[in-house]
Amino acid sequence: MYNITLIPGDGIGLEVTKAMKKVVKASGVDINWEEVAAGESVIEEYNTPLPEYVLDSIKKNKIAIKGPIATPVGKGFRSVNVALRKSLNLYANVRPVKTFEGIKSRYENIDLTIIRENTEDLYAGVEHMVGDIAAESIKIITKEATDRIVQFACDYTKNNNYKRLSCVHKANIMKLSDGLFLREFDRVCEENKIFRLNGEDAAARKYYADDVIVDAAAMNLVLTPENFDVLVMPNLYGDILSDLCAGLVGGLGIIPSANIGKDCAVFEAVHGSAPQIAGQNIANPTAIIQSAVMMLKYIGENKAAEKIEDALKKIFIEGKILTVDLGGSASTDEFADELCRLMEN
Ligand code: NAD
Repeated sequence: MYNITLIPGDGIGLEVTKAMKKVVKASGVDINWEEVAAGESVIEEYNTPLPEYVLDSIKKNKIAIKGPIATPVGKGFRSVNVALRKSLNLYANVRPVKTFEGIKSRYENIDLTIIRENTEDLYAGVEHMVGDIAAESIKIITKEATDRIVQFACDYTKNNNYKRLSCVHKANIMKLSDGLFLREFDRVCEENKIFRLNGEDAAARKYYADDVIVDAAAMNLVLTPENFDVLVMPNLYGDILSDLCAGLVGGLGIIPSANIGKDCAVFEAVHGSAPQIAGQNIANPTAIIQSAVMMLKYIGENKAAEKIEDALKKIFIEGKILTVDLGGSASTDEFADELCRLMEN
């Protein structure tokens, strides 16, 4: 029995997390979900969308999964997602991006992962006005945070049987900050025996490292995404390229993500609370279910994770029970029930 914190979140969060719980239960893993509310529904009572009890629960259980949380625009609350990452020091954001046979997308055979440094860069929030005529945001890249994220990316590459590890940067322009990121990338990769190709064929290597300037990375991800494996990068590039990659495989409704720290891990769908369709039982729960698959692998429940993955593959190949966003007419509940049925067979 695992104790895991569940934050259903706002909007469609309630529906998709309910579907996720049903599917995880059917996979055979016994989880005691500690449900805690965060987001819009608690602001009035606690004067914050992220009350202390949410952080306390995650610190106690070490593992959490969350639905989307709406960030009120212009009300002065910090984004819950940013606050969670900072308070729990969740330094690595991991987004696997894979095509599913049966889901319409522009590409086939994509299997890559974006690993985004989650704690610094322009997201450190160090900004100030210069009089009232200019504003400055400070980009912070430290050796400590860079080494930590590159080490994570090296381990991820090896543990997930990927071959190519690419550093995405703009060191040709930001010679100090991105220059440090690139230099540490090379050093940590070498320590991990992931070397650059020195004229030899990539086919001869188990692993290799290279680097791509962020603008070229954006173009190549659109032209030939199947050539990439694992990409590691500072926060801002990661934010932008991970949504670009979601678009390559059919949109935000299917992509999972994980925020990993030394002590805690928080798994989440990457889509928002979709207020337009909330409460209608039509949201696609695939993203949060795939996030649960990542979570199950993280806690070592690989068999259950694979069972769910197989059921997802089957449901998309069969193409009969699909939610509206994927061109079907099934409800959120019907989609979850079909996954449970497929796992029984
Ligand atoms: P959104 O992801 O909620 O919606 C974008 C579009 O995608 C909408 O058309 C929506 O209906 C559709 N969509 C999203 N998820 C879907 C799903 N699972 N099934 C079917 N359709 C889906 O983005 P938005 O409208 O920009 O944001 C709405 C709210 O969500 C905002 O308050 C924003 O701050 C918040 N948000 C939260 C997170 C998070 O908690 N991780 C992420 C992004 C946005």
